Amino acid sequence: MIEEQPIVEIKHLSKFYKMGGETLKALDDVSFSVHHGDFVAIIGPSGSGKSTLMNMIGCLDVPDTGDYHLDGKDVFSLKNKQLADVRNQKIGFIFQSFNLLPKQTAFENVELPLIYRGLSGNERKEIVMSSLKKVGLEDRAHHRPTELSGGQQQRVAIARALAGNPPILLADEPTGALDSKTGAEVMNLMKELNKQGHTIILITHDLDIAKLAKQIIRIHDGRILAEKEAVLL
Ligand code: ADP
Ligand code: MG
Repeated sequence: MIEEQPIVEIKHLSKFYKMGGETLKALDDVSFSVHHGDFVAIIGPSGSGKSTLMNMIGCLDVPDTGDYHLDGKDVFSLKNKQLADVRNQKIGFIFQSFNLLPKQTAFENVELPLIYRGLSGNERKEIVMSSLKKVGLEDRAHHRPTELSGGQQQRVAIARALAGNPPILLADEPTGALDSKTGAEVMNLMKELNKQGHTIILITHDLDIAKLAKQIIRIHDGRILAEKEAVLL
């Protein structure tokens, strides 16, 4: 049997930060794979290296050592422009603070990345409305972020991430700014999107949130913990 190639394959990743005379090892020989259709939570306490790892997975930063194949592409061998193209094609980002433009409507926020891609007005409209529909907000298309609840704003941000139809959704503490009930609703939406075929990688420090994913990867002091170690925490 031929094993399916993972969509994310990270091997022996290390990242150091130099501060004054000190060197801090933010990621220490991190290896793991994510397969098509997975819903993975990466959990760890503050300072454990989650954001550093997210920046690597999201092709926003490069490590000191290690490799990364994203959907078969050797990410760290790519030049900036090619790297940006891979990032735009493969990954939809979702952030804790939503990162919506405050003066633009939900429609315009979701539309913006499609303008950069050079799609026509009609194509954009169709994709924006179908993305808003997927998150249950087609009736809020012309509202601005201040006219929406926190949970609705995060759903607009998810619609924006979906608009480019990326195979992976990469979410950094997507429920961190929400109360627990609204956070659970956002997690239900992510589960639904996962059922529809999106691969989801979610970064969190909250075990109750991580438990809603299908797989949990634990990180501590820049290292991925084996399952045996993980139960001791
Ligand atoms: P988390 O997201 O889990 O809180 P981070 O990845 O932000 O962890 O940080 C991991 C470690 O690396 C921490 O000790 C943090 O202080 C350090 N760190 C993160 N970013 C930088 C940076 N740009 N310069 C120096 N140190 C950093
Ligand atoms: Mg962080």
